[in-house]
Amino acid sequence: MAGLHFVLVPLLAQGHIIPMVDLARLLAGRGARVSVVTTPVNAARNGAVVESARRAGLDVELAEVAFPGPGLGLPEGMENVDMVVEKEHFMPFFQATWKMDAPLEEYLRSLPRRPDCVVADSCNPWAARVCARHGIPRLVLHCPSAYFLLATHCLSTHGVYGRVAHELEPFEVPGFPVRAAGNVATFRGFFQWPGMESYERDVAEAEATADGLLINTFRGLEGVFVDGYAAALGRKTTTTCWAVGPTCASSSGGLDAGATAARGNRADVDVGLVLSWLDARPAASVLYVSFGSLAQLSLKQTVELARGLEASGRPFVWAIKEAKSSADVRAWLLAERFEERVRDRGLLVRGWAPQVTILSHPAVGGFLSHCGWNASLEAITHGVPVLTWPNFADQFCSERLLVDVLGVGVRSGVKLPPMSLPDEAEGVQVTSADVEKAVAELMGVGADGTARRARAKELAAKAKAAMEEGGSSYADLDDMLRHVAELNMKKSHEEGTGFSTLPELGTGSKNNDNIGAGAALSVQS
Ligand code: UDP
Repeated sequence: MAGLHFVLVPLLAQGHIIPMVDLARLLAGRGARVSVVTTPVNAARNGAVVESARRAGLDVELAEVAFPGPGLGLPEGMENVDMVVEKEHFMPFFQATWKMDAPLEEYLRSLPRRPDCVVADSCNPWAARVCARHGIPRLVLHCPSAYFLLATHCLSTHGVYGRVAHELEPFEVPGFPVRAAGNVATFRGFFQWPGMESYERDVAEAEATADGLLINTFRGLEGVFVDGYAAALGRKTTTTCWAVGPTCASSSGGLDAGATAARGNRADVDVGLVLSWLDARPAASVLYVSFGSLAQLSLKQTVELARGLEASGRPFVWAIKEAKSSADVRAWLLAERFEERVRDRGLLVRGWAPQVTILSHPAVGGFLSHCGWNASLEAITHGVPVLTWPNFADQFCSERLLVDVLGVGVRSGVKLPPMSLPDEAEGVQVTSADVEKAVAELMGVGADGTARRARAKELAAKAKAAMEEGGSSYADLDDMLRHVAELNMKKSHEEGTGFSTLPELGTGSKNNDNIGAGAALSVQS
């Protein structure tokens, strides 16, 4: 299996690029050669992690392709969903994403030989037609939980989405292994928005025609949902549906401390300062607060959160996305002298926080999280219980899984995505008193809190074991590699070539001798 060349194609969003780069390190750790195809802005963000893996001897590189955004009226350099602030840029961003087939194809043509496998994010279905044209085996990487995948699948196949009168009509998910109640607003699938129907269809078709599916989860966490999803799609688990995560728990792939702190982007804070701040706090005493790379609270809701954190009396590190947060929030923090008031026990991180570095510090004992699936897996991997504050997309499903199924979470009380609230709510669902109470519950040392912490530690041990040799995710990745090797063997027999001399792809007019030697390749569309 050594020598297989994988080309990885992440969606241009932090919650998708980060696990894809993790996967690149995992594959390279098993002897594969891996090229992650992404745009210049995203390549720059992930350079430190890839360089660290290369220093550890792994054959992994970033291959740059141009983003077609400017052709659709997007500002130059707007290459990640977290840079999309204006509503009117949202659709063009995905239209441009769907046009990435041309630069991908050009990149593939530039390679000296056809790669052995493309792994494309489930939200990059356009990669399917490129692979089909060139006979390249293709896998799909799912970045949300198996719980979410199966729940939304059940709701579709049982016709619930089509049957409900409005997005707040309550239902239970039919044919689901556990009781799960909600409404469309809290069970919305990706691209399930008016005007995006064709995107949704493309995603389903590319998944149905893929040579296999990878899910960033592990059987000890979500086995019943992984099996259920594979069965629902008519796939056999461990044949074409593999649970290979949590990718953030991989000990292979040579991430040094500096690269861990730069996971997904360079931290916008002095990491040494954050670490010494945490070092000075008792074990499991600190609450880490983050809403991921996209979710944004309204001014009023931010104020309630700030007051609740202050009233909780607990030390906290709060990652606020300064660049994205409104001028109002900045003005309020300043006017209230909030940082001064909480300076003995509150640390605000503006911009990109070194999240995994923080979560892995022994002083951190709780995580107030928006429940992005990566954040959830990072909490699980580090044995940190979660105060759940979902915003949109799959986040309400992660909350249900963390609280109702796994027993490692406490609800903040959020009921709906902010966009489903009436205007007069001004985005507020959780008062400062609610925050204070929930923080006390999460961080408390009563019987419930102690049991929750013990379960979180148990899951952390299971997560790490799954990724080690002999673990389920390690075995699933082995199965996947075997499957890809077999597919290529079969293909080369059919094409009458030896396995090691796969046919050339395209004209090779842009052959790049540096591929595999680490030089980033720039391909213009
Ligand atoms: N992240 C980070 N620093 C930040 C914000 C986010 O390192 O300041 C990372 C986080 O660790 C996770 C990813 O970005 O790996 C976000 O993915 P997730 O699925 O949690 O949420 P999303 O941003 O997609 O809503």
